[in-house]
Amino acid sequence: MRRFIDILASIAVLLLFGLPCAVIWGAVSLLFGRNFLTCRKIFGKDCSEVKVCWFGMRNTFFSSLPLFFSLLKGDITLVGTSFYFCDEYSQGQLPKEITSLKPGIFNLWYVKKHTKIHHAEKTDIDLLQLSGRGLKKDLAIIIKYIPASLYKSDETSIKDTVTLLDVTFNNCTMNEALGFIQNGVENSNKGMYFFINPDCLNKTFTDKYYFDILRSADYVFPDGVGINIGSKMTGQTLKQNVNGTDMFPLLCSMCQQRGYSMYFLGAKPGIAARMVSILREEYTSLKIAGYRDGYFQKDGETESVIEAVNKTGAQVLLVAFGVPVQEKWIYENRSRLSPPVVMGVGGLFDFYSGNIRRAPGWLRDLGGEWIYRLIQEPGRMWRRYILGNPVFLHRVRKWKKQLDKG
Ligand code: UDP
Repeated sequence: MRRFIDILASIAVLLLFGLPCAVIWGAVSLLFGRNFLTCRKIFGKDCSEVKVCWFGMRNTFFSSLPLFFSLLKGDITLVGTSFYFCDEYSQGQLPKEITSLKPGIFNLWYVKKHTKIHHAEKTDIDLLQLSGRGLKKDLAIIIKYIPASLYKSDETSIKDTVTLLDVTFNNCTMNEALGFIQNGVENSNKGMYFFINPDCLNKTFTDKYYFDILRSADYVFPDGVGINIGSKMTGQTLKQNVNGTDMFPLLCSMCQQRGYSMYFLGAKPGIAARMVSILREEYTSLKIAGYRDGYFQKDGETESVIEAVNKTGAQVLLVAFGVPVQEKWIYENRSRLSPPVVMGVGGLFDFYSGNIRRAPGWLRDLGGEWIYRLIQEPGRMWRRYILGNPVFLHRVRKWKKQLDKG
């Protein structure tokens, strides 16, 4: 069945787009001395070496058309595992489950990579795709390519920081972000770790104090698809979407493994407690130093809260009061708080305790997590997303224009 679909799809695409494109690009490459094709070797089924080619033009849908010739030949399949280039990987690095199948023109790795949520190893994402493989799941991957291609950005010039609307943040992978946290704990460096999304950047326009705090933070991580789009609009390439919700399980694993103790401060009464009981089941040897809700008098009771946190000897403190209350509280009390790592995490505890549900994986792959939040809390979120997203994009465009003018 799959082979039949592959043949049908390859003939249709080659006749409709491949041939006309080959003629036009052939003429252009002859006239302007450009490469007609760029070819590389990848591992095919059972680790056989397979040559695949692209048109030597800028990376677009059209440049991938020669892949449909390999599809017709049967070297690759329409939806399969990702491409492993022979000059980048050795056979031994690839699990048998992956090499027993053909690589696919469409694959989950591409989707996650361009939506910037490729927080796991390429092989793990392939294995995830292969679990429960079926035609329905394959079709979903093809559909996800549409937004993923829009998010795709130039991979050749990636810098360590990205600046949007005058706020500079770390351009790092999730693993690198965890490395910063690990260094902070190991070296007992007192640091402030924040996340920003388009709503946060919008808030900096009306809240100069918050803007200054973000600019003085030790680490600021990019959260959400909006920051990816903003980066792309301004010619900057984001490495990964380093959001708190995806980071949290990885952070807990790291803390458990390294014996770092965690304190959870914030959310409504009962929420942190519920989250802690879930954590105790999932991370049985995680050191939980303590927890408390975030509904205390920020003026009158802060001293006793700080004292309680410090007494536990916690090394990683997560503060969940929402933006920008948590950033201001952390900034004002950072010197008196003992944990080396203090991080503002917004609504994280609500998600992890099950108080608010997180968007399903397929919607996250499409970059639509915010739509799910909007549906869950329309009264509170419409301003943030329906108004906030276009305002953010408009501001980014205006900001970029001003920068270009110098
Ligand atoms: N919150 C808190 N103390 C306060 C105000 C809010 O602990 O004084 C909590 C609130 O219960 C919620 C979180 O802060 O759990 C804010 O969540 P939201 O999703 O609004 O975070 P944001 O999107 O602003 O990061």
